[in-house]
Amino acid sequence: MAALRHYDREVVPYTNRTHIVIRSPQSERQLWESRYTKQKKIWASESRIVDPLHPDSVRVRRIAEKVIRATYRTLPINSSHDGTKSPKRQTSHLEGFEWEVILLNDHDHNALCAPGGHIAVTAGLVEQFTDAEIAFCIAHEIGHIVARHYSEILYAKWFPLPLILPFFQRSEMEADHIGTLLLGAAGFHPYTSLLFFRKAAMIERAFWVPRVSIPLHPSHKRRVEHICTNPKSWRRR
Ligand SMILES: [Zn+2]
Repeated sequence: MAALRHYDREVVPYTNRTHIVIRSPQSERQLWESRYTKQKKIWASESRIVDPLHPDSVRVRRIAEKVIRATYRTLPINSSHDGTKSPKRQTSHLEGFEWEVILLNDHDHNALCAPGGHIAVTAGLVEQFTDAEIAFCIAHEIGHIVARHYSEILYAKWFPLPLILPFFQRSEMEADHIGTLLLGAAGFHPYTSLLFFRKAAMIERAFWVPRVSIPLHPSHKRRVEHICTNPKSWRRR
């Protein structure tokens, strides 16, 4: 803890959860942009980035644009309806993003979003899921960025994994919650988040995907149950 050069107490937009972050928005963005740039070079060297003019790339970009627009459209409303709250909900870290969306030639069904606005979606997701389901997956990843999970103190790797596993899983469920709200704001039915997990579970069963020994993600069943619970419960976690 003594090594900490920067920490802030912030409030997560949408869930109002208070948390400690260990990086300023600027250093968070610098760190993840440099990591993403290196990773993108590896993908490019392996010819894994699908042509941006390919119909699937265009489809993913179109879906992501709706979610990104919804994120910025709803944030000011979310941040201003309780201006007296201290500390205020953190949204300034989303300013100045240079959003880009790429499609990766990969059979897995997955997506990622790095601070700075870099979204990568796998071809497996695009092949097997509907527009609304893809939108939820992207919205979930943007939810991690909105909540600054990558700068949360628990992500600093100072703590043994078994001790902080519940907190990792809570981050996933918080991203599900924010993602579901963004999904609705982007013009998709929020119920699709539940369908996404049902389909993901069916695919995993069909392809005998083994469970990892220490699952960072909660089970699909638990995530569905949590999406259906009262969002006010976040403040007590
Ligand atoms: Zn996640």
